[in-house]
Amino acid sequence: MIVLPRSNILSFKIRFFSRSVPYFFSKNNCISLYSSLSTKKSNSHFDSSVSLSQPLDVSVDYLIIGGGVVGLAIAERLSKRKGKSTLLIEKNFKVNEETSSRNSEVIHAGLYYPNNSLKTHLCIRGKRLLYSLLFSNYSGQINYNDSPTDDSFIIDSLLVSNSFEKSKSLTIPYYRTGKWVVAQTDDESNYLTALQEKSTKIGVPTYFLSEKLQKSQEPHVNAIRVLVSPTTGIFDSHAFINWLEWKIQDNDGNIAVNSKVTNIIPGNDGDNRGYIIEITSASSTPSKIKIFAKSVINSAGLYSDKIANMILPPSHHYKLYHVKGHYYGYRGSDLKVNHLIYPVPPKNLANLGIHLILDLNGRIRFGPDVLYIQRPDDYEINVDDESRKDAFFNAVKTYIPTIKKDKLYADYTGIRPKLSGPGEPFKDFVIKEEIDCGFDGFVNLVGIESPGLTSSLAIGEMVDNILKDR
Ligand SMILES: Cc1cc2nc3c(=O)[nH]c(=O)nc-3n(C[C@H](O)[C@H](O)[C@H](O)COP(=O)(O)OP(=O)(O)OC[C@H]3O[C@@H](n4cnc5c(N)ncnc54)[C@H](O)[C@@H]3O)c2cc1C
Repeated sequence: MIVLPRSNILSFKIRFFSRSVPYFFSKNNCISLYSSLSTKKSNSHFDSSVSLSQPLDVSVDYLIIGGGVVGLAIAERLSKRKGKSTLLIEKNFKVNEETSSRNSEVIHAGLYYPNNSLKTHLCIRGKRLLYSLLFSNYSGQINYNDSPTDDSFIIDSLLVSNSFEKSKSLTIPYYRTGKWVVAQTDDESNYLTALQEKSTKIGVPTYFLSEKLQKSQEPHVNAIRVLVSPTTGIFDSHAFINWLEWKIQDNDGNIAVNSKVTNIIPGNDGDNRGYIIEITSASSTPSKIKIFAKSVINSAGLYSDKIANMILPPSHHYKLYHVKGHYYGYRGSDLKVNHLIYPVPPKNLANLGIHLILDLNGRIRFGPDVLYIQRPDDYEINVDDESRKDAFFNAVKTYIPTIKKDKLYADYTGIRPKLSGPGEPFKDFVIKEEIDCGFDGFVNLVGIESPGLTSSLAIGEMVDNILKDR
């Protein structure tokens, strides 16, 4: 690791109060923050209501908590602002170690959620921004002001690229597979009719497929009716996240890893109101620093309720449930499928049903299921769990009758940060500046489950708008 000269640090637009704070570049060019806090300024900067045991080390305009895809997309937007400093804080040794790296990597069309929900709006907007980026041939330019207002450019692009050809030439690989939603009963067929009407209303293209085309395109798939979503696709989310990291650094933004937010207190730095963030390094000799931020964005994924509750009164506390989803892979060449295949989802949209997804190498996986768990870090998957394997086999058999149970294998898990408890109805994303509680400039993002990956660029845009005067 290289010790960064103080003169370089100042060029990051971050204001330092102490000479003794060591800053290091880590391998992936993120900074790692920690300090012995041996020689510090006095506490005289602070609001008298704030009691601090240690003084302040760093001051920034925007502090983002959480280096998942959403925090990074927000930091990418805010770091573009001229004359302002942006710092993203991540507790792990690298960004992208939690939910953002344990999902299906599907670009969702935005079909399922209530029309006026944030999930619908942000998914559709996020999908358009994401495809614009993917089609930009890695020029890295997304023109937010002149970005597409409907999905026709995605459909047109499918035709130009000789329909469903895998594109590996781009630096962020993607494959616009399209998705089939398959009905097995009359009730489910009625659901598809309603889903198509809804998709027309919200401007998401869908169409029904004739039985003949069904059989010729997907001979292994069983359905009495198929609704096709041609704008659904898959992409390499890791390459996308690398792009976001690169853009943040290119914009002179900062990413600090190995730095856990342990407390937040409203306060001021003498001139401005804001928040004092206490950060602990996760090294073998834990050490603390304090950072002053004029605005704070809580994008801490599975821990975002804990972060929000550090500052909100108990009457406004959030509660997240942790909901594990298992994935099973499929060995063997007997099964060839070209589209993502989804059953009709359960009514409360607790998940989208155990569906078939493809990765960019054509590998087939099934999942995720739904299991409420106690711990947000319980990623374990039991390879000997025959009852779970049976449940997967029975669910998939309804739409792929030829599936063989002995070819299923336990693959990996991801954990959803859910606002709905077991059996509770749909709950939307929470993306909110906590003005009602008197916390101007403090934005909470809670319950950012699926379609959070698809929505990430649109969430960045939304937070940028929320903080437009700051
Ligand atoms: C099984 C599954 C499948 C999914 N499939 C899809 C899909 O196909 N398409 C789609 O659009 N969406 C999908 N999603 C949803 C998507 O993955 C998430 O919405 C998205 O990744 C959330 O990103 P995030 O940045 O909010 O959270 P995270 O990726 O969890 O990032 C939060 C970060 O905050 C950090 N953090 C937490 N506490 C602290 C602290 N105290 N101090 C510092 N840092 C902290 C964490 O370490 C973490 O890195 C899926 C989700 C799951 C679980």
